[in-house]
Amino acid sequence: MPDSLFTKIRKGEIPGKIIFQDELCFAIEDINPQAPIHILIIPIKEIEKVSDSTTDDVELLGHLLHTSKQIAQDYQLDNNYRLIINNGAKAGQSVFHLHIHLLGGRDLNWPPG
Ligand code: 5GP
Repeated sequence: MPDSLFTKIRKGEIPGKIIFQDELCFAIEDINPQAPIHILIIPIKEIEKVSDSTTDDVELLGHLLHTSKQIAQDYQLDNNYRLIINNGAKAGQSVFHLHIHLLGGRDLNWPPG
């Protein structure tokens, strides 16, 4: 399998602003931000989408959520932000390497559309 777009960014093969990295995941600024703060939190492991995760990934999935929380704190989002996972093309997923969107810095409407 060729590397995903996000893995290529992590490896520095294509440009992207990496704002966090640890042994399990990394985070980048979205190239087309939908809010003043729009960060993608991505596991190093290439899981295509959350529905492809298994019981082996339970700890990793928790780590992604916890990391999202820590990044929101670092960006001083004042505990007001949204986490989104698009799962599948019909749900808006366009990059098939699991990622959590972290959106904040403005009021966010509901439903998201
Ligand atoms: P999805 O639609 O799969 O939930 O989210 C994919 C996200 O990746 C989109 O918000 C899109 O703007 C972002 N994206 C697509 N290509 C690139 C890129 O080359 N660099 C960065 N930083 N973000 C990208």
